[in-house]
Amino acid sequence: MTKKLYISTYGCQMNVYDSARMADILSPLGYSLTDQPKNADMAILNTCHIREKASEKTFSELGRLRNMRKAKQESDKGDMIIAVAGCVAQAEGKEIMKRASYVDMVFGPQSYHKLPEMLAEASRGAGHILETDFPVEAKFDHLPNEAIDKNLSAFLTVQEGCDKFCAFCVVPYTRGAEFSRPTTDIIAEAKRMITAGTKEITLLGQNVNAYHGDGKNGKTATLAQLIYELAELDGLQRLRYTTSHPLEMTDELCQAHRDVDILMPYLHLPVQAGSDRILEAMNRRHTGAEYRRIIEKLRGYRPDLALSGDFIVGFPGEAESEFEDTMQLIRDVKYAQAYSFKYSPRPGTPAAALESQMIPEEVKSERLSRLQALLNEQQLAFNQSFEGKAVSVLLEREGKREGQLIGRSPYMQSVYLQSPPHRIGRVATVIVEEGNANSLRGKLKPSSVADAA
Ligand code: SAM
Ligand code: SF4
Repeated sequence: MTKKLYISTYGCQMNVYDSARMADILSPLGYSLTDQPKNADMAILNTCHIREKASEKTFSELGRLRNMRKAKQESDKGDMIIAVAGCVAQAEGKEIMKRASYVDMVFGPQSYHKLPEMLAEASRGAGHILETDFPVEAKFDHLPNEAIDKNLSAFLTVQEGCDKFCAFCVVPYTRGAEFSRPTTDIIAEAKRMITAGTKEITLLGQNVNAYHGDGKNGKTATLAQLIYELAELDGLQRLRYTTSHPLEMTDELCQAHRDVDILMPYLHLPVQAGSDRILEAMNRRHTGAEYRRIIEKLRGYRPDLALSGDFIVGFPGEAESEFEDTMQLIRDVKYAQAYSFKYSPRPGTPAAALESQMIPEEVKSERLSRLQALLNEQQLAFNQSFEGKAVSVLLEREGKREGQLIGRSPYMQSVYLQSPPHRIGRVATVIVEEGNANSLRGKLKPSSVADAA
């Protein structure tokens, strides 16, 4: 009999990938995914610890799951195993067990390949299970081979962990040291994905451009070399990678943006701040001028490259003039898209100890709204610059409206158009009629329909 598995995923794309892998691991044990937690036989919260708000959600959602389990038990519909995975599990495993004693399992991002063993232990009544070690053996070696994302556009984790230790960030503590998968494993997984119908692969890593996996002939391969190898695969139409650190944008990788035609002209390259003093306090290890030079070089190789970034406002001690440096950097670079956050002190990180320099919440909020107004303005201008132009769009799914399809442009914009659903999976040429704040609206170019195989 099939059992129902509910997974709630918070945070970054790596968690999205991990949740899909957990479903793959549990599938041979009879679990099939449901989006209805109240009927679930097992519920997993795959959590995010990056900011306080994200972290807090764990406990409120756990409370809801506890009530659903109670209702299920009371109506004689069986039990529900409740598990907490991801970075909150890694960082606060013991605390979760204490605060929410009804939780059956807590396991970190490096342990989920042990799910079958953990389930067996739980069913033997072994009590609460806590797995937050960084095991010596690589998790990836223990994942099922058929572990593939069947989406048209899918993620493939190539690197995990981070050795950069930015002063504000918990990732090096929750995900551990940098680890890169061997190229042969990645190529094999990519081939399986392509066979299953994937047209676009996004290579994932906390620090993806620091990738240094075992390559051919005993040599270490760089991300650029991996990209060149993947670009040879038949049937792969688009390639992306995220998230990158500016320090790792080598010449070789910048040139790949000129030379590899399936490498999409869009790059997420977080800078966090524009002031050199703040960048140093953040331990980012580059200046604003160095970041600008990297962008210039990239645009030299690929003039239409669209950029996205991450920004933190109100890092401890950030003066108004230093915040203004961030605004100036944004004006200079011009982003197509961006993510911005108020600084959130994370326990155990060096910046959290700078208590006397914390910026008041209302100052952070005010700076964030000025910064987001500028970024929104740039995003709208970027989208409007496509009006009347043709873009290639990977048609991914049906929209909410009758006859509507949604796809993505090479520059990561969502594109809405009218088209019959059988065209899903094709790359079509779309004439953009309107550029909006968060998307483009267009129509199929008539001649592109036949050639859009
Ligand atoms: N590895 C990437 C990098 O180097 O930028 C991204 C890591 S993190 C998952 C995504 C973003 O969250 C960061 O780029 C940063 O902007 C933000 N972030 C991390 N820690 C934060 C904190 N303590 N407060 C606010 N934002 C934070
Ligand atoms: Fe966090 Fe910095 Fe590593 Fe990115 S590079 S994951 S921000 S420590």
